[in-house]
Amino acid sequence: MGETFKIYIDNLDFIQSEDRHGLQDSEVTDNTKVIIVGAGPVGLLVATLLSEHNVAVTVLERGDAADNRPRATHYGSPAVKELVRAGVWHDVLSAGFCPSVVTWRKPNGDKIASMPMSSTEKDYPYPMVVLPVGDLVTVLLEHLSTRTNVRVLYGHTVEGLGQTDESAWVKVRTKDDHHPKTFTAPWIVGADGSSSAIRKLNNLPFEGKTWDRQIVATNVYFPFDERYGWTDSNFIIDRENWYMAAKISKNGLWRVTYGEQSGLSDEVLLSRQPEKFRHMLPGNPDPSKYTLTSISPYQVHQRRAPTFRNKRFLLAGDAAHVCNPFGGLGLTGGIVDAGNLADALLGVLLGVANQAILDKYSEERIKAFDGPIDFISSTNFCRIAYQDAETALQNDEFLQRLDVDDKANSEVANELHESVFAIQHDFTQYYTKT
Ligand SMILES: Cc1cc2nc3c(=O)[nH]c(=O)nc-3n(C[C@H](O)[C@H](O)[C@H](O)COP(=O)(O)OP(=O)(O)OC[C@H]3O[C@@H](n4cnc5c(N)ncnc54)[C@H](O)[C@@H]3O)c2cc1C
Repeated sequence: MGETFKIYIDNLDFIQSEDRHGLQDSEVTDNTKVIIVGAGPVGLLVATLLSEHNVAVTVLERGDAADNRPRATHYGSPAVKELVRAGVWHDVLSAGFCPSVVTWRKPNGDKIASMPMSSTEKDYPYPMVVLPVGDLVTVLLEHLSTRTNVRVLYGHTVEGLGQTDESAWVKVRTKDDHHPKTFTAPWIVGADGSSSAIRKLNNLPFEGKTWDRQIVATNVYFPFDERYGWTDSNFIIDRENWYMAAKISKNGLWRVTYGEQSGLSDEVLLSRQPEKFRHMLPGNPDPSKYTLTSISPYQVHQRRAPTFRNKRFLLAGDAAHVCNPFGGLGLTGGIVDAGNLADALLGVLLGVANQAILDKYSEERIKAFDGPIDFISSTNFCRIAYQDAETALQNDEFLQRLDVDDKANSEVANELHESVFAIQHDFTQYYTKT
């Protein structure tokens, strides 16, 4: 080790030293108890919940700002419970809205069946909410800006890591600095998305499958409701031209996510979009009839890490698990991870739980993913993309149970709601002291 001396940058204390390759390396020394890698919704929610209990948190984010690609929009009741607990629900609801009805349709738009989107039981007070994930991130950042014990550092890419029995560290490269910085803390959370460096550097595989259907997600202004009488969310069943059309803002922005052949390049997928819309959407619109504001192709996976804990490293959100988006459960599950992980870490940090609670975190979140999340998301994906609309009603028991009468519809909605709500888990039950 070379001689150390202190410098002061970005409100952080650094000790400069040499790493084992002889490179100049800055070690960040401060009172951070939890480092969170990734300033996506999951990382920021963990930071919000921890900082409420005065835990000092550093969030390291590779990008310069929030990721604004068209991704999550719908969050189910177990996620809403966490947003309420984090004190951000009021702002989420005033920026977003609660959708009312979902309809499964034939390619010509005819209704096959429909269902209320939240439980009608008054025992379940948390209605599904719709808000594009970029806006959710904005709400979380606004709340965090009032906290003095949280630092969100953009332009900080994690490239290496290590740990001892007492602490863990990450090596970070910043854009304008050639020397890596080392950030150390008792606990490190990998909330760095599906390509997670924290997962990979801990040598954890991402087991599961990639679906043989590719998707293209778009945000578009088009009057599905006003002109065509469509409900807030709609799934169009077809083996080839299947898609989801869902209202995602109060001002008429819709999400259209449609299926494409796998194996096409991004360039070809984007060039095919106008023809796809002309063929699929009601009224067969050409581009002059709608305003496309964003478009992004994605592969679709059902995958998870074998464990969400490796000693002092913990995984949450897409870093831990991914599923297809047709159950609205990817980030819903990630938000519940965030709430559970914050409670588990708080238990350890406040001395009211032992470290076994962190293994329990991994165990319970894996149970939720392998159970309701995988089952509900896969079933709805197969319902819309892997069958014919003409025979869907005849083959699909779930659709048959809908639209018999209002009572039957409420029953199905409540059952589905209960299955989704089962991904909630109360970690304070494992606290040994109050
Ligand atoms: C088309 C589509 C629609 C979807 N719809 C829904 C929906 O309606 N409901 C739902 O619940 N889910 C939905 N999802 C899933 C949802 O978008 C994801 O689950 C969610 O965005 C994951 O959040 P996250 O915070 O875990 O990860 P991310 O949002 O991916 O954030 C990870 C962050 O980590 C940063 N990062 C990565 N690597 C590093 C590194 N080495 N160092 C530092 N920082 C790093 C990234 O820059 C990023 O900001 C959808 C997904 C898609 C693709």
